[in-house]
Amino acid sequence: MEIAPGIHRIECKFGNKRMVFVHLLIGDQASMLVDTGCAHNPEQEILPYMGSIGFDLRRLTYILISHSDLDHQGGNQPMKDAAPSALLMCHTLDRAWVEDTEALIRGRYSQFERDHQIGYGEEGKAGIRASCLSRPLNLTLEGGESFRLGANWTVEAVHTPGHTWGHLAVYDPRSLTLVAGEAGLWNAILDEAWQPALPPTYCYVDTYLATLDRLMTMDIQTLSAAHWPLQQGPDVGEFLRESRNYCLLVERKLLDLARERDSYSLREAIETLGPQLGRWPTETNQDFSYGMLGNLNRLTQRGLLKAGCGPQDVVRWRLNS
Ligand SMILES: [Zn+2]
Repeated sequence: MEIAPGIHRIECKFGNKRMVFVHLLIGDQASMLVDTGCAHNPEQEILPYMGSIGFDLRRLTYILISHSDLDHQGGNQPMKDAAPSALLMCHTLDRAWVEDTEALIRGRYSQFERDHQIGYGEEGKAGIRASCLSRPLNLTLEGGESFRLGANWTVEAVHTPGHTWGHLAVYDPRSLTLVAGEAGLWNAILDEAWQPALPPTYCYVDTYLATLDRLMTMDIQTLSAAHWPLQQGPDVGEFLRESRNYCLLVERKLLDLARERDSYSLREAIETLGPQLGRWPTETNQDFSYGMLGNLNRLTQRGLLKAGCGPQDVVRWRLNS
């Protein structure tokens, strides 16, 4: 679907009723694909969509990966095979995980195993491996770069950290459209029927809130994010504000829980508060680890909570009083 002149939003399906929107920006001088979905999505949706609008793959100049996650970078190898002359790129800070699936599994998907005994298990990791075909990049970005796609059309890479350190969005000042990826995560990540699929997976709270503040000051008329309906007009601000408020609500709930209990682990926090905070399937509630650990780290840095080691070396938090 063309959501603004030259900007196409392509729905890619994966997993259990999940979907991710990738974007194709077509100018008369250059073209850019933002994200490649999972390993199967280039063949299943992206290349057929390009064919259906008569887009010649030799015209694909750039493949920009918004951030390191299997549903955004998983199709990098097949997409680059299909368009070898396109330059594959992401933010410098996400480079290590975008280039190497094993580094992504170790660094992102296994990060809660040692201190919190929360993980995806070998079966889960085998599924990630199969869905994520990474490859070396051609270049990395810092945010602020502009790309001339046409005689009167330039788009900009915007550094929007929070979900990852190197998250990038793409802003089109001509149509006031932001291809937002997961710069804001609302109060849930949604499935193909717009039902909650999992909790919002912001990770680094201070930088996430700063990103949302920055986006709220930008002139955005259309916000096209990776797992949510298209937002337009006043709904853009609502989406960003809800993302911000929800993150702060989780933080307040974590502080309240510390007042009620002597101490708690990350698992206890997600299992207690997760069902109160959203309607995603029980099996995806463990993905609240990303967001809640971000909030707990921030509460600890602000001196409101303190972290210590409990039984079996699992981290526990308590009020710092
Ligand atoms: Zn995603």
